[in-house]
Amino acid sequence: MRKQYAAANWKMNLTYQQGAELLKTVLSADLTLNENRLVLFAVPFPYLELANECVHQKKFYFSAAQNCSDKKSGAFTGEVSAEMLKSIDVPYCLVGHSERREHFGETNEILSGKVMICLTYGVTPVFCCGEPLQIREQNFQNDFVKKQLKESLFPLSAEQLLKVVIAYEPVWAIGTGKTASSEQAQEMHAYIRSVLEKQFGREVAQQISIVYGGSVKANNAKELFACGDVDGGLVGGASLNASDFIEIVRALK
Ligand code: PEP
Repeated sequence: MRKQYAAANWKMNLTYQQGAELLKTVLSADLTLNENRLVLFAVPFPYLELANECVHQKKFYFSAAQNCSDKKSGAFTGEVSAEMLKSIDVPYCLVGHSERREHFGETNEILSGKVMICLTYGVTPVFCCGEPLQIREQNFQNDFVKKQLKESLFPLSAEQLLKVVIAYEPVWAIGTGKTASSEQAQEMHAYIRSVLEKQFGREVAQQISIVYGGSVKANNAKELFACGDVDGGLVGGASLNASDFIEIVRALK
């Protein structure tokens, strides 16, 4: 069985106190987790140690950063390196969220560097891909996502790819309340897996977790997560509400 993830992406929301409260509530819920049913909290950098203090009290919950630099270290004021994340025991990092691509000019090439440097320091990258609305409207979504995968992940070896989690997040569904249908999600996840299979082989492709992101809510998570190639979700808005996020975790396969 592939690992299933419910990953919260808080983005730039919540004060420290609100975040602490949210973590406490989610962690005190009665959730059935195991090695293959995991919860991640992608929190703002200043809250990573707080998230670690909380998740270290229980198994199967992990902290995640929302971004890291593609550079190793040096004169890059304001940046945070993968090595720094590793040094405070952060095991996961989002890479290439569409908001980073759109507002901070992150290209497939830059993201390839971020994936690589995460792997170098033993941080699992959660690599985000997905097409904008106009591409979907022209029915070019497969070619668009394939290019993202090719330019950012194909430089990896099969062994390295096995350490990556992929998040398919159609841009038109992020924060819009417009969720991809379970058919659209399944179709793209199966396509992503087929692209990985051609490059890295079937055995590898079958082991990669591909989570869906884009307006996952308590009332649609079960149907989305039930799809054969959907291995859980990356959740923005709904992860800011403890009871909604708890329901989403419960919807994992
Ligand atoms: C996200 O931030 O990755 C996301 C999918 O946001 P939302 O769930 O709010 O659409």
